[in-house]
Amino acid sequence: MQKENKQIERDLSGKTAVVTGASRGIGRAIACKLATEGASVVLNYKGSGERAEEVKARIEAEGGTAYLLPCDVADFAACEAFMKEAIGLLGRLDILVNNAGITRDGLLMRMSEEDYDAVLNTNLKGTFHCIRFAARQMIKQRSGRILNISSVSGVLGNAGQANYAASKAGVIGLTKSAAREFAGRGITVNAIAPGFIHTEMTKALPEKVRENAVAQIPLGRFGEAEEVAEAAAFLVSDRAGYMTGQVLHIDGGMAM
Ligand code: NAP
Repeated sequence: MQKENKQIERDLSGKTAVVTGASRGIGRAIACKLATEGASVVLNYKGSGERAEEVKARIEAEGGTAYLLPCDVADFAACEAFMKEAIGLLGRLDILVNNAGITRDGLLMRMSEEDYDAVLNTNLKGTFHCIRFAARQMIKQRSGRILNISSVSGVLGNAGQANYAASKAGVIGLTKSAAREFAGRGITVNAIAPGFIHTEMTKALPEKVRENAVAQIPLGRFGEAEEVAEAAAFLVSDRAGYMTGQVLHIDGGMAM
């Protein structure tokens, strides 16, 4: 019985994964969870090299395999080189988690073009870039799992987040289109739309905004990155083989 449980816990054994934005927060939790379940993981980040080193060390201390590869996902050409290097390190690519994301909040009437573009370029174009270059390999393999991180803001909209909500709604459209394009190639594409999760991204919110947010969450609290990682591990596993084009809401009930 115990042996069976162990097998279920490590159902990503032998799989290979790329997780973008894995130096902290949700990406870190997903990368660690995939590694715990047996996957070899490429940890992508943009600037937080030391933090990414810590994630790698943690995975290795638990007997897992991790590689560090910095890349700005907003850069099309850099993403092509990044994905090529990642596939070279891993040998094949079973799982891509598009998690890298930023916020530049502000009211629409005062939002600069730069803040709008920065958020769209990282969150939406970055997701497109990584899918674009990972899919080539997955199509060759005739199998793959792509998981994109959207947001409750992309589902419901959010005052002060026109750029972010637009990028995350875009990620949902991208997810569904890619799911349709790749379904015949054995590749599934799904999204998770987290609500308010305890990370540095939400720590940056003013106290008043966080209090108001909790009041809108039926479960009455922020979520933890590990709670998102649990669902991510399922969606990229063989157990989710008949799910594609779906958006899973992990938001304490906000978008029910
Ligand atoms: P976070 O703590 O701010 O971490 C963001 C991660 O993305 C970092 O690893 C960062 O790397 C990386 N990153 C940012 N820009 C990048 C770029 N251009 N290229 C490569 N990596 C980049 O954020 P989080 O809260 O964990 O959020 C993770 C994802 O979940 C994001 O897509 C976010 O929009 C989404 N989300 C979060 C929440 C929430 O409540 N926290 C809710 C809904 C959705 P560096 O450290 O190197 O910059």
